Amino acid sequence: MPIAPRALAAVGEAVQDVTVSSPFASWAATADAVRSTAKKLEKMAALARYLGTLEDDDLAIAARLFAGGPFPRADQRVLAAGWSALVDAILERSGASPDDIGAAYRRHADLGDVAADLIATPPRDARALTLRDLAAAFDGIAATKGANAKRALLRALLARATGGEARYLVKIVGGDMRIGLREGLLEDAVARSFGREREAVARANMLSGDVGEAAVRAKHDTLAAAVFAHFAPVGMMLATPVLELAEVAKRFAPPYFVEDKFDGVRAQAHKAGDRVELYSRTLDRVTERFPELLAPLRAIPGSFVLDAEILSFRGDRAVPFTEFQTRLGRKTVSADLLAQLPATLVAFDVLERDGDPLMERPLSQRSLVLRGLPLAGPLRTPDLRVIDSTGGELVAALEREFAASRSRGNEGLMVKDPRSRYRPGRRGMEWLKVKRALRTLDVVVTAVEWGHGKRRGVLSDYTFAVRDEHGRLRHIGKAYSGLTDREIADLTEHFLARTVEDRGHARVVEPDTVIEVAFDRIQASDRHDSGLAMRFPRIVRLRPDKPVAEIDTLATAREIAKREEAP
Ligand code: AMP
Repeated sequence: MPIAPRALAAVGEAVQDVTVSSPFASWAATADAVRSTAKKLEKMAALARYLGTLEDDDLAIAARLFAGGPFPRADQRVLAAGWSALVDAILERSGASPDDIGAAYRRHADLGDVAADLIATPPRDARALTLRDLAAAFDGIAATKGANAKRALLRALLARATGGEARYLVKIVGGDMRIGLREGLLEDAVARSFGREREAVARANMLSGDVGEAAVRAKHDTLAAAVFAHFAPVGMMLATPVLELAEVAKRFAPPYFVEDKFDGVRAQAHKAGDRVELYSRTLDRVTERFPELLAPLRAIPGSFVLDAEILSFRGDRAVPFTEFQTRLGRKTVSADLLAQLPATLVAFDVLERDGDPLMERPLSQRSLVLRGLPLAGPLRTPDLRVIDSTGGELVAALEREFAASRSRGNEGLMVKDPRSRYRPGRRGMEWLKVKRALRTLDVVVTAVEWGHGKRRGVLSDYTFAVRDEHGRLRHIGKAYSGLTDREIADLTEHFLARTVEDRGHARVVEPDTVIEVAFDRIQASDRHDSGLAMRFPRIVRLRPDKPVAEIDTLATAREIAKREEAP
């Protein structure tokens, strides 16, 4: 049974023929140790100790699981088992009732912790789960078609797990690990375990798209031989919101690279040989959604990886996202929509070119490579303005640029540090975003209620949350207007399938639906557990492109509230 499509033989070391794989219980005990302390050094020591004991294939599996997913990032397979299948498996394994699950979910707000709480008996199947069992089970679930068949495999897997193991199985399958372990810390632990430089581990992980491969390379001292893997999407670098223009100067020194912030969908374009693929912000393959971009991308000689925003233009003006959105979410786009809303790819960064990995180079250099690409037709780069001033002059220049961007139909500005490297998946101060009225937050829906009057029979009232510094969801408001009847009908179906607890008029749901909410102000309040409440919240739009991990934080909401209080 292959442990991953990216065979470890590619690492340049023969895979050892180990007959006994390490018990998953040891992995879970290490995860417990990581979770139980807030101290980075202790987390790292526990991880390093454990990883150092593993054979190659177990090491690769263990490292990938600590990164939170069943498969390497470079691997496009998904389990697609679904929340209700998980709830089902927990019900069966624990013998608990749906009410018990609801009550436990209210206590823990984490389905993995619910499983650990409710599963009290040892598994009937006495064969202890090993890391290789897990990898094989994930391979099987991903390869199986049909919801029922997947459910059966999941139930069989959970039947062999103790409560403590089930906690992490559920977290991994549910895609929400939250054990206070960032990938950076995992890389540190790998480096420490095998006496390598952490930068070298991070680099091999970034290039290969597989922390498991990086770990095995660290063990065998072949980190330097890692190469950039095309068609393994890299986590997208994120921006930090800036609430007022004067704040830009506090983040980094001039010069500032300034571009329009285009309001479309994020995409990463890969080309090698004749193959071209597009990946979404959630790193899913979305190539077929934009057929008109493929030939122009293929026409560019050589290999490359571009970071970009896809949207539609009418003349020089950007088409509003709400209109462009009508062609998204469909697997194949009709000829009509292609004609009405043709896609343009605005490439604002380049991560690889002709075999050269560029992520570690400063933005100023990447920008030169980007602008040297022969982009034509629906491919373009944003106009780049370099602002080299400070104080009032800087604010005045940014104000002018902001207004100009808005007049072109764009959302605002991106201000970038030309000295910065590309940091995959990180939200830092090197990219700042200055948005619209600065009065919207991206939040996740946690509970829904049946509507009244015209909205009777649909789940139309949404309670939503932001994320605190520990990754916990904190409620901040409730909104019931802003979506179309069609969107509400679709969401009703979605929420019915993802109900954790049915309280009659209201349902607690899986927190998987991200919405952008506008508000008049945010103020202190004891109505919600965030200690804040939005006044006059209304839903601006759905954000299916945005993963729940990237919703706005409690810190940002507090910052907005603080500004409201200021005279
Ligand atoms: P937000 O979605 O509000 O977190 O803002 C960050 C997003 O802005 C990125 O994920 C991109 O999709 C988008 N974006 C639009 N224009 C640019 C640009 N010029 N540079 C970087 N990101 C951009």
